[in-house]
Amino acid sequence: AVSDFDVIIVGGGHAGTEAAAAAARFGAKTALVTYKADKIGEMSCNPAIGGLGKGHLVREIDALDGIMARVADQAGIQFRLLNRSKGPAVQGPRSQADRKLYRNAMQEEIAQTDNLTVIEDGVDDLIVRDGVVAGIVCESGREITSKTVVITTGTFLRGLIHRGEERIPAGRVGEAPSTELSKRLLALGLPLGRLKTGTPARLNGKTIEWNRLELQEADEIPVPFSFLTDKITVPQIACGITWTNNRTHEVIQENILKSAVYSGAIEGRGPRYCPSIEDKVHKFADRERHQVFLEPEGLDDDTVYPNGISSSLPADVQDAFIRTIEGLENVEILQPGYAIEYDYVDPRSLKRTLEVKALSGLYLAGQINGTTGYEEAAAQGLIAGTNAAMRAGGSEDEFILDRSEAYIGVMLDDLTTRGVTEPYRMFTSRAEYRLHLRADNADQRLTDIGIQIGLVKSERQKRFSDKVSKLTDIRSSLQSKNMTPNEAAALGIDIKLDGRRRTAFEMLTYPNVRLETLISRWPEIAQFEQHYLEQVEIEARYASYLERQASDIATLKKDEKRSIPPDINYAEVGSLSNEIREKLSQVRPETIAQAQRIEGMTPSAIMAVLAHIRKMAASKHSARSSFSV
Ligand code: FAD
Repeated sequence: AVSDFDVIIVGGGHAGTEAAAAAARFGAKTALVTYKADKIGEMSCNPAIGGLGKGHLVREIDALDGIMARVADQAGIQFRLLNRSKGPAVQGPRSQADRKLYRNAMQEEIAQTDNLTVIEDGVDDLIVRDGVVAGIVCESGREITSKTVVITTGTFLRGLIHRGEERIPAGRVGEAPSTELSKRLLALGLPLGRLKTGTPARLNGKTIEWNRLELQEADEIPVPFSFLTDKITVPQIACGITWTNNRTHEVIQENILKSAVYSGAIEGRGPRYCPSIEDKVHKFADRERHQVFLEPEGLDDDTVYPNGISSSLPADVQDAFIRTIEGLENVEILQPGYAIEYDYVDPRSLKRTLEVKALSGLYLAGQINGTTGYEEAAAQGLIAGTNAAMRAGGSEDEFILDRSEAYIGVMLDDLTTRGVTEPYRMFTSRAEYRLHLRADNADQRLTDIGIQIGLVKSERQKRFSDKVSKLTDIRSSLQSKNMTPNEAAALGIDIKLDGRRRTAFEMLTYPNVRLETLISRWPEIAQFEQHYLEQVEIEARYASYLERQASDIATLKKDEKRSIPPDINYAEVGSLSNEIREKLSQVRPETIAQAQRIEGMTPSAIMAVLAHIRKMAASKHSARSSFSV
């Protein structure tokens, strides 16, 4: 039978828009079916894109010609490169976003996409024929057929808002939940669980005493997300910084049992690294204060998002504790915070293409898979949308990224092999290849792959090949120049006087050699464009580390089968985070391979465990030998 569409995307959030754009870019006739077209691209919680790990995902999406980075560049009102003082591998681009500009730019992007139709309706059911998904049934009764379907319903599946004792069925504030679709997924035998997340109150910026607060400015020269954006033209603003205090904590402690989380009303687990303020006050009782960023939600919007105080306490308690905070004594609360609990699907029931193992043609992406965050959602959307389009086109190929190629690959591998027990968020520590997986080289890692599979449009193809040829010119120019150690010493460069000539590129691999020094010797280098020169400089800096990383990874692979002594005391293992120490002590894996599968486990933690096992073996050995003496 002829289908109405090749691919249907259910939901117009961050996963849905990226999935729809990817499927359409790939050439599939695509429909995006969502409750309300004017909510497409809505940021449900914090108005910001990027950050550590997340910024990497945004660059990778962009490298594959996705839309999030370009949209964020049109909406960013406070660009900051996080970790600027640290190495490029852990720097993450972040920007606060003007909520309205973001939504508008996203809606425009979707409207301009060829092959893509937006349909406003709720989706209640799936059409399944001969064990294969064949379309959807809408709330309105309308049936739409397709070859594949991607579900990206975010926090909407049986969503339930909690605030004090209030319980409001909702997908997010003011929007109805999706209950029928959830029932259908359960009936299909998909393993569903509950998770929760929370959001803070929104404040009226006009009632904040800004002049008493420390301000945080944007970077002087904003660094865009997209490799296609030359310059950020949106005006940049500052945000305010304030702190909770003893009085705030008292009000919260006195009322803690009224919090939906502490009264036991919520069964789903929330993100530990993004805790509510009642969690912070309760769990870190010795902390005297917690930082709060006051982030304006838009250039012409007085709403302020107080980052750091999400809460599910009753509205009057939120009002009381917020007014104890410096600068907020007379603040007006526009909308109280809340926690939301929702169904998610255990991502271990998915392939790495995000197709449901048990139902051919059905793909899931975004928060429905147990993740949190716009960027994590968008990255999954891109993968699911592309794979759904490939399948619909009759291709046997699959689009899978490996852990060594992209943060996207790390996330999909983590999700589909380890599952989640709390909302999954990207961190740079999750990537064992992070020296290679940098935000600055995402295009060099991925754009070619995107071109090969037909996911990258001509504009980016052209820009990219232009860039590659310029970088090649720079590299060969630096390889063709060389100097003796004595010549280097004359320039003030301190290297071994071994008589060996080193190329300009090799010189750059030394931490004490700057590009400027090389330019002082060979002024012609300066003719190359500055940002391309910087790119090659970063590559050179990382060259030796990358070699070491490769050997570390080889060691890890070799050690996977190694067993862990049952008497290991994780309290004695150095450089483990409390979280990982706790998990290892609980799970007590028998082998390194098992330890690697623990959710949240990081490569550096595995290295620490290995080092400790070796230490234990060595001390047992020396104990034995001293005994025999
Ligand atoms: P969403 O952006 O939620 O999009 C889902 C879309 O699907 C919506 O457009 C909806 O209308 C549509 N839809 C749902 N069901 C149907 C249906 N049956 N038929 C048709 N359309 C449907 N992330 C963080 O990183 N940090 C936080 O602190 C944080 N806090 C949050 C607090 C709250 C209260 C909420 C609601 C979310 C929070 N998030 C947070 C998560 C962030 O909003 C999500 O991770 C992100 O929006 C997920 O994107 P998504 O595309 O999966 O889903």
